[in-house]
Amino acid sequence: MVSEKANQIGTSPTLKISAKAKAMKAEGIDVIDLSVGEPDFHTPKHIKEAGIRAIEQDFTRYTENEGIPALKEAIIRRLKEDYGLSYSREEIIVSTGAKSSLYHVIQAIINEGDEVIIPSPYWVTYPQAVALAKGKGVFCPTKEENGFLVTPDQLKSLISPATRALILNNPSNPTGAAYQKHELEALAKIILEEDIFVIADEIYSKIIYDDFLFASFPSLGEEIKKRTILISGVSKSYSMTGWRIGYAAGPADIIDGMAKIQSHTTSNACSISQKASLEALSGPQHEISKMTAEFQRRRNYLLLRLQAIPHVSCFKPQGAFYLFPNLSFYYDKEFSDIQIRNSYGMAYYLLKEARVAIVPGDAFGADDYIRISYATSMENLAKGMDRTTEALSRLKTAKKVKRVALNNTITRQKKSVPLESSIPVKMKDALLAEMESHLSHENHFEWNANINGVVVKLRTNVSHLNDFWIENWYPAQLEADLEPHGTIYAVDGIAGREPHAFYSMETNTGVLVNADNYDPLRSLALGLVMDVSERLFNNFAIRGMSADIEGNGLILIGPKGTKKTALFFALLQDDKFRLHSNDIVFVRFSGGTPLADSVERKLFLPTNTVESYPRLAALFDNSKCENVIIRKEDCQDSECLRLDDCRLERGSPFCYKASKDAHALLDPFWIGGPAKHIKRTALRWVIILRYDNVSPPFEKIKAEDALRILESGEAPGVKQTLSPSKSQPFYNPHLLLKTSERLELQRNFFKRLLESSTCYLFNSGKGSVDDLKKMLER
Ligand code: PMP
Repeated sequence: MVSEKANQIGTSPTLKISAKAKAMKAEGIDVIDLSVGEPDFHTPKHIKEAGIRAIEQDFTRYTENEGIPALKEAIIRRLKEDYGLSYSREEIIVSTGAKSSLYHVIQAIINEGDEVIIPSPYWVTYPQAVALAKGKGVFCPTKEENGFLVTPDQLKSLISPATRALILNNPSNPTGAAYQKHELEALAKIILEEDIFVIADEIYSKIIYDDFLFASFPSLGEEIKKRTILISGVSKSYSMTGWRIGYAAGPADIIDGMAKIQSHTTSNACSISQKASLEALSGPQHEISKMTAEFQRRRNYLLLRLQAIPHVSCFKPQGAFYLFPNLSFYYDKEFSDIQIRNSYGMAYYLLKEARVAIVPGDAFGADDYIRISYATSMENLAKGMDRTTEALSRLKTAKKVKRVALNNTITRQKKSVPLESSIPVKMKDALLAEMESHLSHENHFEWNANINGVVVKLRTNVSHLNDFWIENWYPAQLEADLEPHGTIYAVDGIAGREPHAFYSMETNTGVLVNADNYDPLRSLALGLVMDVSERLFNNFAIRGMSADIEGNGLILIGPKGTKKTALFFALLQDDKFRLHSNDIVFVRFSGGTPLADSVERKLFLPTNTVESYPRLAALFDNSKCENVIIRKEDCQDSECLRLDDCRLERGSPFCYKASKDAHALLDPFWIGGPAKHIKRTALRWVIILRYDNVSPPFEKIKAEDALRILESGEAPGVKQTLSPSKSQPFYNPHLLLKTSERLELQRNFFKRLLESSTCYLFNSGKGSVDDLKKMLER
């Protein structure tokens, strides 16, 4: 398992989309890649030769930590010549790309909790770099109509006592927006008043169009220079992305802090690349203007093409090599019945349908937009625009535009927890005292549920558990003096304890420690009710999926791997069958007839049941849910990943299928109205499931044979999937007490049930739902 940090961060979206485009190309698909973040020109020859010379001269060892003196001098000269800036060697550090300088400066000046103002749309790396330094990114949303520039008022309104720095990317990736000198001066005034730092990322400063006059932030004055760390490099201006050389210029103490950090991260930037960069910065500069002229030609062409697409607006950039058009008009439109909901959906659509790779704007914090890079040939741009224009024209207005705001809780604990049943009284007393000490007056919830006539009180400090509990069960009275049959404590946040469940039979008390998910609580409650019902009411539970046909009940019983759910929901698609219960029924005998009761007000259903019954998806949309996957990183379904068909990537905000641990509390009446659901049925058929390739689809079996199979808890034909420790007597994982005395009670109950019903073994490896229906008609 990787750390939470690593898990949260995810790969750079630009890299991801480029990797996809490359993979499609490798399959022979002709993709136009407009996602690249690097010039499509070669590194100039004189620069490459300097690199080769460095190798030939064996300049292949560690260098000075902060960069070779000659390169630092070249940087100083360039900054002087270009912007009139004066820096000393102590104020310069050379690093492995500008990205590395950026990380080191953030690590050097940001303490935990410090705020960093990040104008959005932002370059994807800024928020992550700030988060990794435990700083807090404060976003400053800029607008297309203001040229994507931060206004002085905006900046002022975001500064708090915790603000430490502003990251100013000029010209900007992804918008291409650049600041005029007077605009920078207005910001600088506030920076000085408020005494914060500016991290000025000017990596695109040489790629400037028309007659725009670029002004470097530290050149605005001596005072502002002391508050500025300038970040730049050779990657973009000299087509040297792979050489990995960047640099920072700023106050000597900050540069020194960065050098210390760098000495433990990359040591120094590549020796060969440093020599090549020395040539880049001090040799002839004319290649830059040639490249910029070509970029400007492409920018103008693309702007014309974008203007011709209805309902698309695009800001005219002054620098860098990206366009950032607004495509939001096309969201909520659909193709092949799939709705484009956001920029991820748009990127997916353009990649699959137009074979054009662009980066979704959401990656830069602006979901209405997409980023188009023109670092590719005119020919490619023309083709890419033809395809994009055509693909957008094909989008249709969606039949029904519905945005679902899922009522979903993500819990820390996702799975069931280990259980210790029949704990001694002394241990129970100590446990309860510990639990009570964590339930103060103001933080606990209490509610009595009526489960099969058994009153169970929940005491918990987890509001989500209280919420699901109330939703799941019928209410019992809540008078102060009502003595419940049993009590469950569900207490979270106890330091030093692993998630665990306990049960004390003497007092019908359950304890759930540090499990904030509902599954173990529901299971413990059902186990408690089974224990009480058996002893007090001679009333037993069956774990299975039950349905009713004209007053006759059937129940499917079997372990995992026997396709119980698929079969059950396939059966329910037939109007004649009514849903009874999806998990547990309680049975009482009335005049020899086994009457089965469904006791839950809501069905606790794994949301991946949508695979068996797609109609459920729309119902889950309105149900209370737990742990439905909302991030692709958390998906457990390798099948979609293999087929490269991920809903989340297509822009869906969640996926019901992506995890086995996701559940919904579904109102059974929603499936087909009151006529489709029944609370009580007389059990006529008991159907035990197995799964293999050899046995017949179904066979009638004698009660004693059925009993033997149920008691073993193994399924004929699925033994290999069940380890002995996992076999559950009567396939009932909720049973708390498995002493021989209690199993004997179960045995007697099942004997009576099986003798008063018809028993079948059904092989779902061979038999279909139609075979099942035929079997019942006999
Ligand atoms: N800053 C910005 C705004 C960028 O777009 C990039 C590259 N995409 C960098 C910094 C990093 O440049 P380097 O390759 O020198 O690490």
